[in-house]
Amino acid sequence: MFQEKIINDEILEKMSLENVFKIFNDNVFPMLNSEEREYCANLQEVCLDISPKIDRSKDVYGLLSELGKYGYVQRINPWKDFKPFGMKKEILLGAHISMLDPQLELARVASGILCGNPTFHYYEHGGESEVPKRVQDELLSGQKVGCIGITEPERGSDAVNMTTICTKTDDGIIYNGEKVYTTNGPKADYFCCYGVYDDSNPRDTMVQSLIAREFGVKTKRLKINSVPRVHISHTILDNVKVPLDYVLADNGMGYKRLFEGLVPERLAIMGSGIGICWAGIIYGIIYTNLRKQFGKPVIRYQGVGYGLADLLTKSNAATALALQAATVYDEKILFADQPSKEAGKWTAAISSQGKYYVAKLTHEICYETQQLVGGISVTDNTPLDELSDVSKIEEVIGGARNIQLLLIQGQIQRYIGLL
Ligand SMILES: Cc1cc2nc3c(=O)[nH]c(=O)nc-3n(C[C@H](O)[C@H](O)[C@H](O)COP(=O)(O)OP(=O)(O)OC[C@H]3O[C@@H](n4cnc5c(N)ncnc54)[C@H](O)[C@@H]3O)c2cc1C
Repeated sequence: MFQEKIINDEILEKMSLENVFKIFNDNVFPMLNSEEREYCANLQEVCLDISPKIDRSKDVYGLLSELGKYGYVQRINPWKDFKPFGMKKEILLGAHISMLDPQLELARVASGILCGNPTFHYYEHGGESEVPKRVQDELLSGQKVGCIGITEPERGSDAVNMTTICTKTDDGIIYNGEKVYTTNGPKADYFCCYGVYDDSNPRDTMVQSLIAREFGVKTKRLKINSVPRVHISHTILDNVKVPLDYVLADNGMGYKRLFEGLVPERLAIMGSGIGICWAGIIYGIIYTNLRKQFGKPVIRYQGVGYGLADLLTKSNAATALALQAATVYDEKILFADQPSKEAGKWTAAISSQGKYYVAKLTHEICYETQQLVGGISVTDNTPLDELSDVSKIEEVIGGARNIQLLLIQGQIQRYIGLL
């Protein structure tokens, strides 16, 4: 299991996923109602069942169908008879899959949320093609893999001004352009891809389509050391023709869907993040309670114990924020007969603030916990180094740190108009 085992057997026995869940439940269950607790208990059972099947020397893609069996590729929207669903359930799902396997969680979010969610938005807006429903079933069962193509080599944070050009023909739309950092790209069967008819007017001409790999998409895998079990690509669209029934949003509607998708995506990424925070801090708590130096457990030294206490406080604060944001989103937007505009503005703002705070916290918690745990934490004998590596990615996916701050700055600048 490890390249070379040096961890003490008694400590290793306690560093189990089951024990991570026990400490997570002690902290988080008081914030949940009985339906949410039952949902988590079921999730934990499935995670404990999947855990021994994970081979950390292999990529994560064989595991998506394991999640699909239980409707765990996404839980924001209703799919098949899987219940309950909603943003709070999605946040809890993301948190658990991160605790199970943070790289699997990255691939799940890209396939189930970033590619899967637009198929739900399509029907909410009156779409009639049967293709997105078929793709949705394939993605959510975990049988097929999806990804999203927004970022381009020359357009990262400035994503709206994309340069991928779409040309309409009688029976389809031809895409020409390049995307980068496409999470799952090398393994993907479907690419939810954006392009524009006129790159000088992206807002009014943006298109969003599902593109099947067989339409001619080419991918080249990027080397990204921190997530070796996830495949991320440079994606080439060279005269790729997309039939009209694969087009999700045409003639500028693609721009609206891009932004509509960002809020639930960022909230979902908060779920992944809080799972990394909890796994990081909990493995640290277990290890330092059992590791003895100078005759006593190292957690009893103030330098270690106070550090963990500080991180635990932040982890709880981040969790409360994520759960509260999801509650407002569910009650006032997702399940509301008439979605509240005020809540829409608030969740858009809080999704940036929360994504910024939680993503940064994943790194702080994992890095600081590693320092408090000591040498073992940088070997493969604990899950901490993998968690720490994935935490680097959390800050950059879904919009880098400064883009969240730019959006938050825009919001606070408007307050002067209220006075
Ligand atoms: C591992 C990984 C997976 C990803 N997965 C996907 C995916 O599946 N699909 C996809 O489409 N994209 C994906 N991305 C892309 C990700 O969303 C972008 O990396 C991100 O939007 C930033 O773009 P950039 O990296 O080109 O940085 P740039 O936009 O070039 O920014 C460089 C720096 O400048 C800062 N900056 C830029 N503009 C401003 C500004 N106006 N004010 C202040 N600071 C600014 C940025 O914050 C950053 O620090 C992924 C990225 C990574 C690394």
